[in-house]
Amino acid sequence: MENKKKILIVEDEKNIAMVLAYNIKKEGFDCDMAHDGETGLAMALTGSYDLILLDIMLPKMNGFEVCEKIRYKSQVPIIFVTAKEEEKDKIFGLETGADDYVTKPFSFRELLSRIRANIRRSSGEVIRAQAAAQPSAGIVIGELEIDQEHYSVTKSGEPIELSKKDYDLLVLLAENAGKAFTREELLEKVWGYDDYYGDIRTVDVAVNRLRSKIEKDTAKPEYIMTKRGVGYYLCAR
Ligand code: CA
Repeated sequence: MENKKKILIVEDEKNIAMVLAYNIKKEGFDCDMAHDGETGLAMALTGSYDLILLDIMLPKMNGFEVCEKIRYKSQVPIIFVTAKEEEKDKIFGLETGADDYVTKPFSFRELLSRIRANIRRSSGEVIRAQAAAQPSAGIVIGELEIDQEHYSVTKSGEPIELSKKDYDLLVLLAENAGKAFTREELLEKVWGYDDYYGDIRTVDVAVNRLRSKIEKDTAKPEYIMTKRGVGYYLCAR
């Protein structure tokens, strides 16, 4: 029997946490709860979770800090569950290395679709499936080298640290170098959302972050190009 995927809920409002946990378990996941940031961080770092649902306003340590500290050690998917509507907070959430966010109040169905998409993408199933179908594990574009076997990226031999989503995005663009994708296509292929739930700005934020890591000058990108009126593509060399 397949092991159940395990989710950690970090949420100080115990009623919300319990309702979430109840619904998540009903969908066939295991789950644990933490009610403050410090405990959440310590539990997340045990490495026993497949996904973290992270509130932002938390006692002892806020969600942003928890997220940053988790990212030093782990690529586990993190979904921010936020009561803050402001766009900049959402973006900041992504800049700290979170994979996704939902804004309270949210429907459980929406959250579930995000949980499933993030676990599916992070488990490496997609990447392994691609690697198996296509045994040439490396992609070289200009000074950029993607080693799919070891799941690493280097530029001129220097390692580049990427989050799971940014890596997936880069691999997709690199495997299809020269082909432009719309933001909606990228959202669907990399994040696993249909456009009903997706926010295409998520793609722009990820592209900007990726550019800041691989481009010499983000204002004049040489790798990840904007195709006006369409979306993005990786420049074929
Ligand atoms: Ca809270």
